[in-house]
Amino acid sequence: MRCTIVPPHVLERVLERTDDSDLRARARHTLVIDASHRVERRLAMLTAPGAVTGDVAPNRTIKDAKHREELPGDTVRAEGASATGDTACDAAYDWLGVTFEFYEKSYGRNSIDGAGLPMISTVHYGENYDNAFWNGDQMVYGDGDGTLFTAFTGPIDVTGHELTHGVTQYTAGLDYFGQSGALNESMSDVFGSLIKQYYKGQTADQADWLIGEGLLAEGVQGVALRSMKEPGTAYDDPKLGKDPQPAHMDHFVRTSRDNGGVHINSGIPNRAFYLAAVEIGGHAWEKAGKVWYEVLTGGGLASDTDFTTFAAATAATAARLFGDGSAEHTAVRDAWTGVGVSI
Ligand SMILES: [Zn+2]
Repeated sequence: MRCTIVPPHVLERVLERTDDSDLRARARHTLVIDASHRVERRLAMLTAPGAVTGDVAPNRTIKDAKHREELPGDTVRAEGASATGDTACDAAYDWLGVTFEFYEKSYGRNSIDGAGLPMISTVHYGENYDNAFWNGDQMVYGDGDGTLFTAFTGPIDVTGHELTHGVTQYTAGLDYFGQSGALNESMSDVFGSLIKQYYKGQTADQADWLIGEGLLAEGVQGVALRSMKEPGTAYDDPKLGKDPQPAHMDHFVRTSRDNGGVHINSGIPNRAFYLAAVEIGGHAWEKAGKVWYEVLTGGGLASDTDFTTFAAATAATAARLFGDGSAEHTAVRDAWTGVGVSI
């Protein structure tokens, strides 16, 4: 499975709306690359690496595609090597490190697969490539075209989002379609945002709850790719169109595009997490994040889990961790009610 941070409908919208032939060509080319990769979940990665002994530490390798569309590219920075001076390379290295530390310190998870998986990122992928993705084995980043998007190595939550697709792949394996696909997307937004909050030391009420803040190029009317706090408000731009995310089940979008709206309806569970985290207070990764992490990785979810089943699992887990009727349990239940998902 290949999970891009920018969903196809955003780039399709650019094709429909703009007369700028260069921009159209770049959007079309990004879509062609994305479609050509949309295939694989390699068998090799299903073979978990052996148990790791000794210190738990990241094992990062950054590779440079040098603007070609070939993976993985040439190694430019290995674990422990000093900074290269290339902004994309060094940001990719740092964000892998923060993501590794977040999962290890917060939940005792040793890398993406829980067994010390080496982390590989390729930067400078393609020409003006407007996306970043996890391809089942590694991270890949475009530099953006500078008109719609800036470099995808910029925002830390883009890396956090994509690597969390790896965590989901190795744990609940949520099917990338319909409600389970929207939950898969939401897991990546939840932990992507938490990784940013962890890095900045923010509490739930201090966080911006945006995904990809800083990714929209200058002149694009918007603040980010998505808003967990107020889904549907991240952008409204002549070229990109309007953020299509619903914030409540009353506005659930039925569509065949975007794998059944996985980047669209994820607004509903995203806002549920935001509501729970803000109501509980403090560092969101410590309690609300812990509940979601336990549900995602605990082995109790079917791959086709829907919103209602997931919501019930989070409420049950909050009750188990913090007590039946505890403030945390109540906050989680109320959060789902608040987005129209009844448990
Ligand atoms: Zn994603």
